[in-house]
Amino acid sequence: MTKSILGYSKKALEEILSSLNQPKFRAKQIHQWIYSKFSADFSAMKNIPKKLIESLEENYSVNPFSLEHCLKASDGTEKFVLRCQDGKLIETVYIPSEKRRTVCISTQVGCPVNCVFCASGKAGLIRNLSAAEIAGQILFIANRYGKMPTNIVVMGMGEPLLNPHTIEGLKIVTSEEFFNLGARHVTVSTSGIVPGIKKLADEQIQWNLAVSIHAPSDELRRNIIPDKCRYPLTEIIDACKYYLQKTGRKITFEYTLVKGENDSYDNAVNLAKLAKTINAKINLIPLNSIEENSSTPTKSDLNKFVSTLQKNGALVTIRNSRGDEIAAACGQLKNQIENQQKSSVETAQKEN
Ligand code: SAH
Ligand code: SF4
Repeated sequence: MTKSILGYSKKALEEILSSLNQPKFRAKQIHQWIYSKFSADFSAMKNIPKKLIESLEENYSVNPFSLEHCLKASDGTEKFVLRCQDGKLIETVYIPSEKRRTVCISTQVGCPVNCVFCASGKAGLIRNLSAAEIAGQILFIANRYGKMPTNIVVMGMGEPLLNPHTIEGLKIVTSEEFFNLGARHVTVSTSGIVPGIKKLADEQIQWNLAVSIHAPSDELRRNIIPDKCRYPLTEIIDACKYYLQKTGRKITFEYTLVKGENDSYDNAVNLAKLAKTINAKINLIPLNSIEENSSTPTKSDLNKFVSTLQKNGALVTIRNSRGDEIAAACGQLKNQIENQQKSSVETAQKEN
């Protein structure tokens, strides 16, 4: 396995180069290839001598992935399943619109939280992604499209605030030395991991925070987020206040609307009340069912919920589900690909 140099400072690269008897200025050239021209391989770096490329490739890589599978939806959304060097699969989604090019990135293989409706948590946590693997998803997209995305949402597989490498990975994306994307264009979504929210706040970087609230009471929330990783709402609200105080960024509540579960009139009234305590926006996500069932709210269920929220003074947006036909909810496509691969291995074993 090679080590990705994504996130290596120029100084760290200079040290590697000097151990290979190479001049320091090559570090600057390599940085330019990666962070300005989005080269994902040493072999694309035209002004680097072939011999040096060969020596670097013995121990190092730029992007730590290979493309396993990609699917494009009719609305332009493109979903990628990437293979990590240890063979694990992750998902990255590219969502173009008129004004933005958004990338949804993963932070873990699997997820320990295991929310009831989420495909990513079904097998628990397999492992954390490294900082290079987190930032590498941005390099993969920038390389493929020839330009940086405009917005990053950390809403793919995994709970970002349970991965100790998330902050370092995001710093590679937003710090001036590397990809230099404005921090205000990055949104970190969490299921409400209180120590993680506080740690993120302490960085005092202008990243946006989205908290997956999903229910206005602990009693109801318990049905959606299992005990192991769930924090009490009062602690989550206090952590949000701390985030606001440290960064001044308005917080978003994400609320996956599940028919018959958290979509009552009272739920909407209480959610609006809770949001008001920290002046949070509410982003409603209609359930994208991972099983055949009828818990996906209808348009009219959704409209009723929205109108109650608005009547109670809440600022609401609805996440329009992009790329539905390509299994857009997080973890769904990766699970499909894994299952297909498993069944083809089983078929091959049977045939032998
Ligand atoms: N782990 C983080 C970020 C990844 S999930 C978190 O939970 O916030 C991003 C958002 O998608 C969360 O709000 C999550 O609850 C929601 N989500 C996951 N699976 C979904 C599904 N099948 N339908 C609708 N929303 C889903
Ligand atoms: Fe993990 Fe988020 Fe999925 Fe919950 S919704 S299981 S926290 S990825």
